[in-house]
Amino acid sequence: MLPDWLVEKCMAQIRPFQCEGFVLGSGPANARLMFVGEAPGAKEVEQGEPFVGQAGEHLNRFIEYLGYKKEDVFITSAVRSRPYKEKVRVYKSGKKVVSKSNRTPTQKEVLAHAPLLDFQIEHIQPEIIVTLGNIALRRVLGIRETITQVHGRLFERPILRLANSFQPDARYVPTERVYRVFPMYHPAAVLYNNSLEQEIFQDLDRLKELLNGQG
Ligand code: URA
Repeated sequence: MLPDWLVEKCMAQIRPFQCEGFVLGSGPANARLMFVGEAPGAKEVEQGEPFVGQAGEHLNRFIEYLGYKKEDVFITSAVRSRPYKEKVRVYKSGKKVVSKSNRTPTQKEVLAHAPLLDFQIEHIQPEIIVTLGNIALRRVLGIRETITQVHGRLFERPILRLANSFQPDARYVPTERVYRVFPMYHPAAVLYNNSLEQEIFQDLDRLKELLNGQG
């Protein structure tokens, strides 16, 4: 769905930053639901698929709880390459081992890939956009509140899109269209804090109601 020229331009824009690989996103063009994550991790860039690592297992559970399969929904993220940092370990023998770990994307990295998310949202026109975690929340709604404050609440309002993409004066502006956006915790959050599960499932119940027209 994404035009090659757009992918190439966005890939070029992320090149100056410490990021690797590229994941397009997955799902049908007529998906009712779109999940927007943060950025892929090592497994995702290796397989070229979003959410195939540990966080993906949780996301799958959430999707199934809603009565869908992973193939029914559109899954994408604010940044399509894996932001990483390097750790160098020097052993007594003098041997050096460099390892990479994931890090949160910077706002410059989010901006570099903003036209990709804009394109997918415009073309898919999902009924509900579910943002996962703080990065996606800020990218889509541009609000200052954190996910802890706004998870499980439906926002019906214009979202942010990048105007003048690829120009020095590129900036986020509100869309003309009003979208329905439902912020949720990032599924990786339960890997660090198990007690969030209950709140996440309450949010999923609310999302189910919205999808069944009871919202
Ligand atoms: N986290 C994300 O936001 N996206 C992925 O694809 C995997 C983990």
